[in-house]
Amino acid sequence: MNSKLRRPTLLGIPLDVNSSFLPGAALAPGKIREALRSAASNEWTESGVDLGAPGAFADAGDLKLSNSREKVEEDFAEIERTVRGLIESGGNPVSLGGDHSITYPIVKAFAQRYSDLSILHFDAHPDLYAEFEGSRVSHACPFARILEDGLASRLVQVGIRTMNGHQRQQAARFGVEVIEMKSLPAYERLKIHGPAYISFDMDVLDPAFAAGISHREPGGMSVREAIAHLHAISGMIVGADVVEYNPGQDVSDLTATVAAKIVKEILGQMIAAGEE
Ligand code: MN
Ligand code: MN
Repeated sequence: MNSKLRRPTLLGIPLDVNSSFLPGAALAPGKIREALRSAASNEWTESGVDLGAPGAFADAGDLKLSNSREKVEEDFAEIERTVRGLIESGGNPVSLGGDHSITYPIVKAFAQRYSDLSILHFDAHPDLYAEFEGSRVSHACPFARILEDGLASRLVQVGIRTMNGHQRQQAARFGVEVIEMKSLPAYERLKIHGPAYISFDMDVLDPAFAAGISHREPGGMSVREAIAHLHAISGMIVGADVVEYNPGQDVSDLTATVAAKIVKEILGQMIAAGEE
């Protein structure tokens, strides 16, 4: 496979207008970048990849979006257009959200290149609502939209601990492979054939490890458990997003540091897979 030539490329997506409970995630991209560049740590991943090597990854900067409810369709179109452009020019986009609604337009772009995409979705929540509080673009809905549109051949959800009756029906209807938090670890279920996309909602982590999120759901992963599951992923990782970090809820930028750590290990997995 020629994935060696495809370079992971950061893209900041400052959009939080589809967050149902608290705004704030639009401010995340800059804070995550700052933590990534911090001199408090070095640039090597735990898996042994040097992210400081020349050209290891690129950064396309932040999108300019209206982040207004009235212009959601325009913002989604801009996200899809930019991600498609990055893919066409040889990048593997790694988006820094933003609330989780951004994954729908991102995956629309990926589906135009990859017909057999598997999505590995880390989250406390299934985000499978047909609609939420009258909105079909809410951050509670993206995976319903993705599956209705047939944009992914598999959706594997990891760390779920807020499943309700409606979303259980949705999961059954769409054939979602739900690995609930109570069933972890599940390393062997993350062996993927074909292209894989990682969507990492920071609230999959226990709020004790990541207070800087909008929906604190206790009983979640430790940072160590999350990294162990990321390291267990095999297959060609063609893109990722890290969403729902909310600086307004953070304490001393601790969750920014955790988000940066997650981004680092995802980049390491993408680069290592490309070198196989
Ligand atoms: Mn989510
Ligand atoms: Mn969530």
